Amino acid sequence: MKKAQNKKAPVRKTTEKKAGATRGNSRAAETDKMLTQKKELALQIIERLKQAYPDSGCSLTYEKDQAWKLLVSVRLAAQCTDARVNVVVEELYRHFPDVDALAKAPVEEIEKLVHPCGLGNSKARDISACMKVLREKYGGRVPDTMEELLALPGVGRKSANLILGDVYGKPAIVTDTHCIRLVNRMGLVDGVQEPGKVEKELWKLIPPEEGNDFCHRLVDHGRAVCSARTKPNCGKCCLQDICAKKLG
Ligand code: SF4
Repeated sequence: MKKAQNKKAPVRKTTEKKAGATRGNSRAAETDKMLTQKKELALQIIERLKQAYPDSGCSLTYEKDQAWKLLVSVRLAAQCTDARVNVVVEELYRHFPDVDALAKAPVEEIEKLVHPCGLGNSKARDISACMKVLREKYGGRVPDTMEELLALPGVGRKSANLILGDVYGKPAIVTDTHCIRLVNRMGLVDGVQEPGKVEKELWKLIPPEEGNDFCHRLVDHGRAVCSARTKPNCGKCCLQDICAKKLG
């Protein structure tokens, strides 16, 4: 009796193993198919947004040879509009026109000037600390690697990607609120809200050299047509026939 039972067991196990492998293979094939479809959708969206917004760019003003100003602006832009930041920094730079002057400036003085952007104290502290590191470690230059940028006070992945893409022309994906809202609505990602995870998903779909401009165009499209505040204007949207319109 015992011998007969032992003989049957491996046959059942082998059959279950084969069935499991078949299920695994078909899941993998389904995942590959979905990824291919999303890549194709991403390419179509990129092309149409290029046509609709040929001149998209960063809406924070700074000079390319003064990348430190973009670091300051992007920190001030947290929970504040880019338009307001662009006005506030004019006064800030009248008082403190370069990295050295800002690094030496008392935090309270910076805070007074950046107060209209909100969160004045923490923004002023970060700007002060960041300018000190730029001066002491990089001779006033803004570093050009993700690792070094993330080590600067007040700099997260969104800001670091913006610097890499805009200043240094490197592959970058900036996952701000417009980007996260739009790529979910369009069906490029499915219910992903955490910026780091959205970035990871988009890297699988967007050609690296397109990432930076694509994100700038999403901002323009979000402001013009696919708004967070009002109902998206799908009837006037250049993507209406290909967008998943997941409006939740
Ligand atoms: S079709 Fe509608 S939901 Fe989709 S991107 Fe356009 S405005 Fe947004």
